[in-house]
Amino acid sequence: CGIVGYVGGRSALEVVVAGLRRLEYRGYDSAGVALVADGKLATRKRAGKLANLEAALEEAPMPPSTTGIGHTRWATHGAPNDRNAHPHLDDTGSVAVIHNGIIENFAALRAELEARGHELVSETDTEVVAHLLADEFEPAGSDLAEALRRVCGRLQGAFTLVVSHASVPDVVVAARRNSPLVVGRGEGENFLASDVAAFIAHTRNAVEVSDGQVVELRPDSITITDFDGVEATPHEYHVDWDA
Ligand code: GLU
Repeated sequence: CGIVGYVGGRSALEVVVAGLRRLEYRGYDSAGVALVADGKLATRKRAGKLANLEAALEEAPMPPSTTGIGHTRWATHGAPNDRNAHPHLDDTGSVAVIHNGIIENFAALRAELEARGHELVSETDTEVVAHLLADEFEPAGSDLAEALRRVCGRLQGAFTLVVSHASVPDVVVAARRNSPLVVGRGEGENFLASDVAAFIAHTRNAVEVSDGQVVELRPDSITITDFDGVEATPHEYHVDWDA
């Protein structure tokens, strides 16, 4: 339902949770975050309101990090519980995925992954994406955007996907097909979200991501390609309304 991503110089957790708050009005049943810190992923997720997630963060504080993603879920596949909340990880805990929309061929992909020895732990359509990405990451030359492009080619349905990887700090990648995604360009920091409301407190310079595109965010760059890897010229615009 709501999606936020951040790379830059600040506490990613603070930026991401504040962004999720700005998207709360859309409704949701659970919330979660993932951060990249010291070559590892840290995640927290909880069913219920953001306040539940914040209580979990207070109980078990996360390591400092400047790379993070966050999600508020409106369940379509699987009950709204802690386990089904996003982010979803692969078996080794190296890839974190958040997702809006529906992966229509998830059952076939799940069967294929299980036949290859993957253990899936949730009831969501989303989790297959984390496992597929884990398998594509090294063949894609440890290029997370390339791994995501390869995986997108296998997915049916509508999605905004946002991904981070334990071994690539300062990078967040995302893709969209028939589901909203917009980038916010900052100075030495960049944002992405399902709605500009999540980041206009920080920047009003927005960059459009079109259907069928993948974006790679780093603190000093925004690279957009189509699902085949052909680079696209970003369309930038100024957000001048008040949220
Ligand atoms: N289909 C996914 C799920 O049920 C994503 C739902 C959403 O868009 O929040 O977990």
